[in-house]
Amino acid sequence: EAVLAAIGRGDARLGAYVRVDRERVLEQARAADERRAAGETAPLLGVPVAIKDVLNVRGEACTCGSRILEGYTAPYDATCVAKLREAGAVLLGRVNMDEFAMGSSTENSALRTTRNPWDPGRVPGGSSGGSAAGVAGGLAVASLGSDTGGSIRQPAAFCGCVGLKPTYGRVSRYGLTAFASSLDQVGPVTRSVQDAALLLGAIAGHDPRDTTSLDAPVPDYTEALASGTDLKGMTLGLPREYFVEGLDPEIESAVRAAVDHCRTLGAEIREVSLPRTRYAISAYYIIAPAEASANLARFDGIRYGNRVEGASPIELYRRTRAAGFGPEVKRRIILGTYVLSSGYYDAYYLRAQKTRTLVREDFRDAFGQCDALLTPCTPTPPYRIGEKTDDPLAMYLDDVLTTPASLAGICGLSVPCGFTDAGLPVGLQILGPQLGEETVLRVGHAYE
Ligand code: GLN
Repeated sequence: EAVLAAIGRGDARLGAYVRVDRERVLEQARAADERRAAGETAPLLGVPVAIKDVLNVRGEACTCGSRILEGYTAPYDATCVAKLREAGAVLLGRVNMDEFAMGSSTENSALRTTRNPWDPGRVPGGSSGGSAAGVAGGLAVASLGSDTGGSIRQPAAFCGCVGLKPTYGRVSRYGLTAFASSLDQVGPVTRSVQDAALLLGAIAGHDPRDTTSLDAPVPDYTEALASGTDLKGMTLGLPREYFVEGLDPEIESAVRAAVDHCRTLGAEIREVSLPRTRYAISAYYIIAPAEASANLARFDGIRYGNRVEGASPIELYRRTRAAGFGPEVKRRIILGTYVLSSGYYDAYYLRAQKTRTLVREDFRDAFGQCDALLTPCTPTPPYRIGEKTDDPLAMYLDDVLTTPASLAGICGLSVPCGFTDAGLPVGLQILGPQLGEETVLRVGHAYE
């Protein structure tokens, strides 16, 4: 009730939510109360969690920030949603996002504008902008987001909260509407690293319904936090290539101060190099649209959501997609179709895949020398709403620090590390190897 009241007071201004069904929320809360009264214990019993509108929740709409899915009702729960229910969580409502998770500012949502709680004239980041704005603005205790090229880590950095992109395959993608299947991962956006550890423990694990999900045991992630603020024995790498030209000097100094702080907590800091990092952004913006163009072919006006009638099935398909998809989604479909077309496949798609392997090798080498890497999460602080909407390439470039880890399938945590002079939050990115969630959580917890 307290969170619902906060939403009632604050969300008209913030725009984090796209749907809150008060009765459904209270019904789940009452059920949690009953489970508690019966002596049951569950890790998230009664904890309200907001869900990004890209995840299927049985009996609810799932719009993915798009007009094309209007009228669609999900017939099943995503695995991570089912696991949250098992853990006792109360599903709070659905939070806003860039259409089909394509974007970095939530401005590509067809549904509403989401604002940054620290400065409502600025973007909350994206694509999980509703998740981050909701948590940072006190309208959710925790939330689930999804990260394909930075969509959990970057909005967490822009809004001053914690965001964790798990290792590819750590969390099931069953029921997550696919954007780029080889990159998509579900993860928590929270107020603290401890909360992120709790949530990850609830949603992680093997799922026979997702063939890419990893069959690895799920540790108790909160145990990884037991060493408190002690980082003795840990080596943390500082990758030269992440302190790029164009990095905002205030972000650089906040991150360097965070690195010094980790040194005082006992960590050894070592400079490392990942020379192929600079190719990652180009490879990402070939691979992600390529996969998106294939994944979005299913929105044909016949199987899901909105339909615009036409004289023939092709005409119906064409009209439905012309009316239903926004400009960024169309841009990605065209880009993706182009790089996959015969004659261009070798020059673009295949080359991007080879580049992806090189980026992955760089991380493998780096993790031979250190336990985790410390980097800035974003090159700039949150910008003004509308500032970059006419320049999609400038927005793509801003993903330069988050996309390498996505291509490599490794895990990454974003934790707040101070503010710019104008009072805007800065995020520290902690990257860990495959299944290195315990390490990044430990470092993040010690630091915060
Ligand atoms: N900003 C990136 C993109 O637009 C990443 C989005 C995401 O991680 N879903 O593709």
